[in-house]
Amino acid sequence: MLRLTDLKLPLDHSGDALTAAILRRLAITATELTGYSVAKRSYDARKRGAIALIYALDIDTPREAELLQRFADDPHVQPTPDTDYHVVAQAPPRLAHRPLVIGFGPCGLFAGLILAQMGFRPIILDRGKAVRERTKDTWDLWRKRQLHPESNVQFGEGGAGTFSDGKLYSQIRDPLHHGRKVLTEFVKAGAPEEILYVSKPHIGTFRLVTMVENMRATIESLGGEIRFSSRVDDLLLEPAADGRQQIRGVTLASGEQLRADHVVLALGHSARDTFEMLHARGVYVEAKPFSIGFRIEHPQSVIDRARFGPQAGHPILGAADYKLVHHGKPGPDAPGRTVYSFCMCPGGTVVAATSEPGRVVTNGMSQYSRNERNANAAIVVGIDPSDFTPFDGSGSPLAGIALQRALESHAYVLGGSDYSAPAQLVGDFLAGRASREFGDVQPSYQPGVVLGNLESALPDYAIAAIREALPAFERQVRGYAMHDAILTGVETRTSSPVRIKRDDSLQSLNTRGLYPAGEGAGYAGGILSAAVDGIRIAEAVALDITGG
Ligand code: FAD
Repeated sequence: MLRLTDLKLPLDHSGDALTAAILRRLAITATELTGYSVAKRSYDARKRGAIALIYALDIDTPREAELLQRFADDPHVQPTPDTDYHVVAQAPPRLAHRPLVIGFGPCGLFAGLILAQMGFRPIILDRGKAVRERTKDTWDLWRKRQLHPESNVQFGEGGAGTFSDGKLYSQIRDPLHHGRKVLTEFVKAGAPEEILYVSKPHIGTFRLVTMVENMRATIESLGGEIRFSSRVDDLLLEPAADGRQQIRGVTLASGEQLRADHVVLALGHSARDTFEMLHARGVYVEAKPFSIGFRIEHPQSVIDRARFGPQAGHPILGAADYKLVHHGKPGPDAPGRTVYSFCMCPGGTVVAATSEPGRVVTNGMSQYSRNERNANAAIVVGIDPSDFTPFDGSGSPLAGIALQRALESHAYVLGGSDYSAPAQLVGDFLAGRASREFGDVQPSYQPGVVLGNLESALPDYAIAAIREALPAFERQVRGYAMHDAILTGVETRTSSPVRIKRDDSLQSLNTRGLYPAGEGAGYAGGILSAAVDGIRIAEAVALDITGG
């Protein structure tokens, strides 16, 4: 097969028009086109009113060899790449110890699945509950203001992305097409087939729940074991010959010890107690940049109009998204701050996402249909260790966690100390006055918001940076800085505040057998990249065990 890329057609083209465009582009006749399939479909909405669809197509033709020769210098006519997944090892008949995977989010799930597919029968541990029970616990916070610290938006089967928009794209380099393996497994587990070819696939929260259950069943059918309510509280370590330490297993909160020489650490960014334990146990951990800010909500219709003009509402386009960045001007004694939109959820809701009592954290989710009234996204300011290391005075690599906790606790107080979140209208935020009543936009955050002034919710530099960025965003998306849009705080868990550094073999810098992975270790940001990292880690574990 050959792959033809960058074929542009108008949004409302017919099926015949696509066939005709292929024949024209390759200069072949209809009988020479045996078949084709869509490898990728994206759109170009830069010209509102003339939105184009852009295709990558896999073409079946008896003239393939000749065409590839004729178009040898054309980057848009190439052989179709092999995107199938090939396992790198097979487990030996006898294993001294089964590998352990800590965490059953996208990273742990794919590390576990790939290990299981190679015959390693991994044991997967998650501190939270199975996804159905977890869903009930999560709703307890949203409906009854009751937090379950071990079973919530962050912790439990499926990990942090289970109650999400289920966006499945990322900008990671992926030369081995591991992302394709992730999407293929998701489709097998019940995701819509379109995720294999649309450029910005999403699943929505409802389907994710069932998919995660189906993937658990697959891992179990291959001899893997998944244990819920199994928080890892300690590591079993012994000195290694090269001056490093060697992992020999883990201790669970129940006191049970599990022996293992290979342990995947796929914790997510909210396992603060576990980060503290790792640091105390001498595992190399360093502070890393992350971002802080608010969630912003607009009517979805405002975003659709601004992005798609007269073609707003077109079924192929769906609810519009956006991605915004503003590089702030440096002051005389302050750096210019970068403010950007993050985790945009078209037609979705803002969700309460704390895992710790007495704290408020925002995030966003949506259903597959993306048909709620509001669009939401985080608007966040990048910060780095020089911003937060002085914050707790210790110089500890965990100082970012201390800053996150302080902001989340203050947001809890600003919200009335009952898990309501503090909020403010954009117009009032820009004018520096407290909000008293809602305008045209109703907030979606449950269990509720308290209007007021968000000025004290973030450090001054972050407030100033967001005030500078909102009018700049208005110039890119008309209506963005509308008076009645709502800011809800605080968004602090954009990525991990630490990196658990690893070497070329993907093991911890100073702890052999420990494989830091996914978002919590600072090696992923999002469902797809965490899952891809899980695959890489499973391969590294398998090769280490088999000596490959
Ligand atoms: P996690 O998914 O965080 O999983 C870590 C797991 O480890 C958890 O299940 C936790 O219970 C477990 N764990 C932690 N400590 C221990 C311990 N000591 N012992 C045992 N188990 C432990 N990303 C996207 O790409 N698209 C989106 O649309 C999207 N929306 C999101 C919406 C929300 C509300 C949230 C919170 C996140 C969203 N994200 C989204 C981010 C995405 O969910 C994460 O990037 C991704 O889940 C990270 O995967 P992970 O496996 O590395 O960690």
